[in-house]
This record gives sequence, structure tokens and C-alpha cells, in this order.
Amino acid sequence: MRIAVSACLLGETCRYDGRSKPCARVQELVALGHELVPICPEVTGGLPTPRTPCEIVRAPRMKGKKAHTANEHSWTILDASGADRTAAYARGAQAELARAKEAGCELAILKAKSPSCGSGEVYDGTFSGTLVPGWGIAAAAFRDAGIAVIDETADFSRLANG
Ligand code: SF4
Repeated sequence: MRIAVSACLLGETCRYDGRSKPCARVQELVALGHELVPICPEVTGGLPTPRTPCEIVRAPRMKGKKAHTANEHSWTILDASGADRTAAYARGAQAELARAKEAGCELAILKAKSPSCGSGEVYDGTFSGTLVPGWGIAAAAFRDAGIAVIDETADFSRLANG
């Protein structure tokens, strides 16, 4: 299976702090016959590394629609200094989604809790380390496009046969 993967989980030093977050159990999927396609929506969107950390600070649920979809801009991304990074996040999410679709990815394994890559739980926008239910901007775009999204802590047993 071809799988889009957060590049920081594969050892790329693309995180906001200039470091990576290598995850052996994700990297080991290659030995099971899977092809991993690295993505980093924040870098692809034009943000530098290292960069000031960002959080989703406003994501009101639009009536009758899902929150956090990259097309609706029902969310705003600010960095810790107050600078608006919404455009870069939207640009990066759409560019990486297009690349993953082009590559034929059926699944995405994306870094937990990230404002781009988190799935189901993200920081609340107060920069206090508080988690709330929600989706990162790129993860939501993948989900809405029909690509299943899990994070690096998920049960990989169904991936045992590549
Ligand atoms: Fe890039 Fe996503 Fe990793 Fe952040 S969590 S460094 S956006 S791949």
C-alpha cells in the first residue's frame, strides 16, 4: 500500500523546533512492503524551519458543515507571537493532498496533535499545552478527500501484509 506519512516521523528535521520525531514502528512499514510518501504541509506551505510554533486558535463549527475543512477557512492559525499563518497552512494542506492523491495514497499516517497533521486531538490555541478534540488542517483535508488518516500511535496490525 502507498501511505502518506508525516516527514518528521521519518526522521526529517522539519518540525517547528528544527528537529525530527522519528518513529520506528512507522519506518518499519517499509519492510512489510508498504511505500511511504513523506509529506510536510507546513514546510510545503512556505514556512521556514525552525519556525515559531502555531496553534489553531479559532475553529467555529459552521452550521451543517464539518469544522476545520481547508476550503471553508472556518479556522485561523496564529503563531505564538500572534502572526497569522492561515494562508501558509491552507496552501500546504492542499499541495500535499494533491501530491498524495497523485501518488495514489490510500492511507495517511500523520503526526499526532500537530496543527497540520493531528487527527482527533489538537492543542486549543492558548499555547498552554491544552488538548481539545479537533483536526489539524492537512489531516482534515485528507480525511475530507476520502484518504483515511491515523496517527503514529494507532494499531498497525491491519498493515501487516503490505
Ligand atoms: Fe511537518 Fe506535519 Fe511533522 Fe509538523 S507534524 S513537521 S507539519 S510533517
